[in-house]
Amino acid sequence: MRNLIIALLVSLMLPVVANAQQAGNVVDSSRKRVVVLDPGHGGPRPGKVVGKVHEADIVLDISKEVRRQLATKMPELDVYLTRHCDSAYNADQTKDNRMRAEFANSKGADLTVGIHANAIGNTTTNGCEAWVLSLDESLMKQNNARANLFADDGDALDINDLDTKSMGFIKVLTRQLDNEPRNRMFAQQCCDNINKLGLKNLGVKSGKIWTMLYYLEGHGVLIEVGYMTNAKDLAYISSEKGKKEIAGAISDAIVSFFESLDALSGDVSATTEEQSVSEAQPAASDEALEEGYTIQLISATHEVDTNDYQFKGYKGRVRLLMSTGRYKYKYCYGSYASREAAKRDLEEAKKTFKDAYVVRFKGGNIVTQ
Ligand SMILES: [Zn+2]
Repeated sequence: MRNLIIALLVSLMLPVVANAQQAGNVVDSSRKRVVVLDPGHGGPRPGKVVGKVHEADIVLDISKEVRRQLATKMPELDVYLTRHCDSAYNADQTKDNRMRAEFANSKGADLTVGIHANAIGNTTTNGCEAWVLSLDESLMKQNNARANLFADDGDALDINDLDTKSMGFIKVLTRQLDNEPRNRMFAQQCCDNINKLGLKNLGVKSGKIWTMLYYLEGHGVLIEVGYMTNAKDLAYISSEKGKKEIAGAISDAIVSFFESLDALSGDVSATTEEQSVSEAQPAASDEALEEGYTIQLISATHEVDTNDYQFKGYKGRVRLLMSTGRYKYKYCYGSYASREAAKRDLEEAKKTFKDAYVVRFKGGNIVTQ
């Protein structure tokens, strides 16, 4: 029954999703870009507490430092914090998180970054991770649990009404199909940048519906900068040096995020173009062929500009091929007469896109034969 409902919803939603994507591609470059930083917890909820160290304090310091650094790195950006001191919006945790998202929405946030520190029941687990909302199976399973919270927080939604419960799901579905790929790229960039500071990279995760992310209208990611329950992580993330460096990692990722949005709107500065020309050129491939082999770098649920920052050194040199399934937009490099020829460039491609592999294409499509 549930599968049937989901299938029905997906089929009903398709026209809306297509429209949303068209709207999403129209980027108004004249409007000021807005980022909202959300230091988690505060007030009655300190978050994880280890000795005298409160998560709420660490993440507030990091958030303030991100804003300070962005003032230099990207002065044209409007940066807001959801809180400036040890405070909360509401005594109820769900309402509090929702109000943080509503604050971000009221500012017209293009990107909202939730900043947290992690905790677990052992002292060995360590590293940074970032969370995005996703339509994976675990999220669908948790839909029920989440829907209960809607009823609890005074919203008009009624858990006992199946239609209403489905509306909550549709809301996530519509927004996240559009935002997920870019949220994921930003989340990955944050993890990669923090990893360079010496913290383990636990990668991008999904499967929990974070209240703060759920209610966002723009893009949003929640970062767990490190584990407070691990002595080494804690020493670093609570130190002045650590907080400053992590803020540097996050602010760099924010700059990349907005640069890529500007690229989508066609507002690419001369400097950016010069940089892309001077980047190492991937190995040359055969002349474009009508059919043959190509290296699939990444796939997406919707169309991405081939000049997008996420193509890194292959920016502007990828081409879009179509396939079936949810991730039907395949971004590929090169065209080769034989699989062997393609494989010669594959190792190079894997340095940038570790999951790259050789596929066969015909015309504008990936083919399996
Ligand atoms: Zn937290």
